[in-house]
This record gives sequence, structure tokens and C-alpha cells, in this order.
Amino acid sequence: MKIYNFSAGPSCLPESVLKSVSKASKNFQNSGMSIMEISHRSELIVDLFENTTLRLRKILNVPDNYHILWLQGGASMQFAMVPLNLLGQKKSADYIETGIWSSKAILECNKVGKANVIASSKDSKFTFIPREYEQNIESEYLHITSNNTIYGTQYKVIPNVENPNGFLVADMSSEILSKPLDVSNYGLIYSGAQKNMGPAGVTLVIIREDLVGRNYRDLPTMLDYKTHVSKDSMFNTPPVLSVFAVNETLKWIESIGGITEMEKINNRKAQSLYDEIERNSLFFSPINKDDRSMMNVPFIFKDTTINESEFLSYCHSHGLMALKGHRSVGGFRASIYNSMPEAGVNALISAMQEFEKMGQ
Ligand SMILES: *Cc1c(COP(=O)(O)O)cnc(C)c1O
Repeated sequence: MKIYNFSAGPSCLPESVLKSVSKASKNFQNSGMSIMEISHRSELIVDLFENTTLRLRKILNVPDNYHILWLQGGASMQFAMVPLNLLGQKKSADYIETGIWSSKAILECNKVGKANVIASSKDSKFTFIPREYEQNIESEYLHITSNNTIYGTQYKVIPNVENPNGFLVADMSSEILSKPLDVSNYGLIYSGAQKNMGPAGVTLVIIREDLVGRNYRDLPTMLDYKTHVSKDSMFNTPPVLSVFAVNETLKWIESIGGITEMEKINNRKAQSLYDEIERNSLFFSPINKDDRSMMNVPFIFKDTTINESEFLSYCHSHGLMALKGHRSVGGFRASIYNSMPEAGVNALISAMQEFEKMGQ
């Protein structure tokens, strides 16, 4: 039976990527050595990093005045590194709270300086993206979480930053590479790899040149973007295997026709799943229609007396895995990142239809 993994992260990877990783784990580029054994100072690995960076730059059309970094510590580390590097002494930054991940980013900013939470959908269980708020003209940057992995909301239009010297910072962990991106709208973008880009262990940071080296405070070397820019992400031993898998994932995106093609496929997948949720008499989506995520699709039973585990085990027996909603939300969540094939989404839709019939 074909297994489809709907996990929110770490999530499924393309078959071709798993094959290449498995090959490189044994013998990397006919070196006779595993990629895990080769020095990051060797030409093979330096080339790998350069190629990965170039490929990402090309796929996302990253302008020349932005640096691309491959760091460790996950998106969670960026919650702290962003304010440590970009928030001046006694200054504040604006944050829009759209889920647990943005709440965590706010928490970290408040340890460094002050986060103004200018809007929050917390009181509505994060079922929408706030549209009405006032920015503080003094704020150094505005931070958003572009796609909310747990709740399934996503920005369709990004905010304009009102401070003429300010800039937008975005946590794109669960949407990067799912659609074209105009990097010039942002000062900094960060994204853990394990949702849409590869395995855990590496985090992408795209940072505008003029934001590197602001020297607002004396930082530990590892927490300073300047360190990683000046050493091409190789200040210390980098996660080579993870970066290799990212490069393979980028190749896979190229092979299916690049980022515009990726977006078309993602749109089709999301559309057909939301259509089924709307049609099916058992389920509904609690999320505001205009804000529904293309990547993470939560849905719940209309009738709360039906035991959720019945549907989950039905899915399980049909090879449809990891559909349980986040513990804070309940219900179900299908994460349909780039690597989830259309056949997987169709299999889920069939299961929803069959489960509906069984109850009649
Ligand atoms: C998964 C996720 C994170 C946390 O990422 P880590 O790499 O585990 O630190 C942060 N933000 C968003 C939007 C996520 O989806």
C-alpha cells in the first residue's frame, strides 16, 4: 500500500531526494566516502554549499543585495537572533500575532527589547489574519508569520511597513518555495527546512545586505549574522547532510518546472481539498475563507459526538498518516506541502467520501 505522510513537520520529501540522500550517505560523488564523513573545508562540500545557495537564489529570484545563510538552531533560534541583531537599544518592533509560532517570536523579542503586539487573532483561536491595526512609526521592523502551520491561516497580501526606515521580517517556515516570492519586500526572511525544503537541521535566512553588522550590542559570535555572512555559513561545522538534501529538493523543484509550476500544483491540491471539506456533510473548516492556508489544512467534525479517532484509524488503514490536528486545536490537519503528490490529496479526498458513505 502506498503511504502518504501528511505530517506538519518534519514532513514528507520527494522520492528522488530520499534516493539521492541514501546514495550520498554511502558514497558521495564517487569519493568512496559518506557525505557525513567529508570535511566541510573540502572542495566537494564547499561546492555543494555554493551550488545550493546559487540554486536557491535562482529559484526564488533573490536580488544581489541579499545574503543567503544556512544556519542551525531552527526557526526558533531566529525568534531570538532577529531582535538581537536588528533591534536597537531602547527601540521596539511591531509584531502581528497569528499563532503559537508568532507568540514565541514575541516572547523572545521581549527578552531583548520591546515587542508591540499591534494585532492578534488569539481571541478567535487564530482562525483569521488580522487586517486592521496601527503600526508604530518608530518601530524598527514589522514581524509576521506568513503561514500559520498549526491553525492553517496564511497571508494573501503582506502588510506595507509604515516607518520609512523600517522593514518587514517574515517567518516563512511553512510556506517557503510553495509559490513565487518578491524578496525585495522584506528585510529578512527565515525558514526552518523541515516543512518545505528538506530535513530538520538547517535553517534558511535571507537577509538584506545593509542589515548585517548593525552592532547594536555585544553578541555571542554564533548569534551574529555578520559571523555567518563573513564565513559563507561555515564558521563552524555546518549540517552538511541537511544542506545536501535541500539542494536535492531544489533540483526536484527545477525538474517539475520551477516555482510558478509548483504554485499551480499547490493551488490545485488546496482547492480540491477545501472543496471536499465544503461539500462533505461530516466536516468543516473553522478558518476564515479568505485566509485559508495552501499548505496546512485543518478541518473538524461538524458533529462533535463522533469520535475523531475513528476517522484517523480509517485513514491509517488506507495509508494516510499523521492527520491528527495539533494538540491545541484538535480535529484533523492535512499538511500538503510541495512534496505531497496530488495523488495523496486525492486519496485523502476519497477516504473522506467513503467515510461519509459508511455513516449513512
Ligand atoms: C515549525 C515552525 C517553527 C519552528 O521551527 P523549528 O525549526 O523547530 O525551530 C517556527 N515557525 C513556523 C511557522 C513553523 O512552522
